[in-house]
Amino acid sequence: MFFKKTIREASNQYLDRLFDIKSSFQRFNQKYDIFNRAMWDDKVNPKKFFISYDIANYAPKKAKGFDHWDYAFRNASWHMTDVVGEYNLESEGKVEGFTDYYSLHTQGPPMKAELKTPEETTARVKQAAKMFGAGSVGICELDQRWIYSQHFNRKIEDAQPLDIPEDYKYAIVLIIPMDYNLSKTFPAALSGAATGLGYGVGLLAANTMAQFITNLGYNAIASLNDSALSIPMAIEAGLGEYGRHGLLITPEFGPNIRIAKIFTDMPLIPDQPVEFGVRKFCEICNHCAQKCPVKAIPMGQAQEEPPNISSLSGIKKWTTNAEKCFKFWVGMNTDCAICIRVCPYNKDYSKWWNRLGIMLANSPLRKFMLWLDDRLGFGQRKAPTEWWNKN
Ligand code: SF4
Ligand code: SF4
Repeated sequence: MFFKKTIREASNQYLDRLFDIKSSFQRFNQKYDIFNRAMWDDKVNPKKFFISYDIANYAPKKAKGFDHWDYAFRNASWHMTDVVGEYNLESEGKVEGFTDYYSLHTQGPPMKAELKTPEETTARVKQAAKMFGAGSVGICELDQRWIYSQHFNRKIEDAQPLDIPEDYKYAIVLIIPMDYNLSKTFPAALSGAATGLGYGVGLLAANTMAQFITNLGYNAIASLNDSALSIPMAIEAGLGEYGRHGLLITPEFGPNIRIAKIFTDMPLIPDQPVEFGVRKFCEICNHCAQKCPVKAIPMGQAQEEPPNISSLSGIKKWTTNAEKCFKFWVGMNTDCAICIRVCPYNKDYSKWWNRLGIMLANSPLRKFMLWLDDRLGFGQRKAPTEWWNKN
């Protein structure tokens, strides 16, 4: 797209500059991820949050978007991700896709496939990823800073070493779009289905891609939220920019996405980061920070220090307070993504006028775009019943 600027700088150096990464920076230990802290840290009490995802134990409420139909639908959207991901939970403490990478692959052939030119090999890999469910795909060199220093094991309730082989030099990063109409109903149990389905498609796309590469005689590991921080990798892979709400904003689907990735030793051509005006727009916007019910998203400039142990330190960025955010999720018994819903980049970009809007956001007319966005009522919540009645 012509409104995107490609950054002609080594991707890792670009992130150094973008986030002012200090020498004190340390890789993130997944033990401190808020969902894992809920397992061992008394300060983070999940109450019945996780149980509500169990089909036999959710507690429907009278509120619209939280009734029996809504929870049944949301939990069904998570079903395959849970069944596959928790296959080794009882025996090994693994939640594949969240605390551990996937271990589903069938061994490949002893012979490696003959590779095409680097350009054609890379193009074929991207073509396959789109066929397998990715909305967009990019490649980055594996930057060790984003790999977790340790990952969390739910059986021993503690961190363990992570074993991604050093010769896995690349990551194929997949953007999985979530349903736009469902995301307009956040927060509700109903809209949690957008999240669940996003992970379900991510599970399919990442594992199928990893098996494809394995079948070609190379090595590959499929991953969702486990093993490494997806957002900086997606930025390095040229898939989007970082927003005030701490999420990736893509030019094709805004922030309404999930991210999956595949680590591999297959030689590929990395992409370059891109910019399309997000940082400047976030500086004048603040919608997510204003509309967050628990004020977990910072206003003003990027912070030098994280609000608590659940975020990276030694890096200057807008950081959401994960403790406040998760507490709100627990109170609702479902995930919230009001910050995605109200973001002016959350649009249906199959419409030309919305593509025009993203261009205005990247121009001196960005204040006008923000005003227009408000006037036209974008970001307002749709009633969950409207979604059910639509069809
Ligand atoms: S998910 Fe909800 S509670 Fe959490 S930061 Fe976003 S708006 Fe706030
Ligand atoms: S809502 Fe506004 S401030 Fe927040 S991420 Fe989106 S554009 Fe940036």
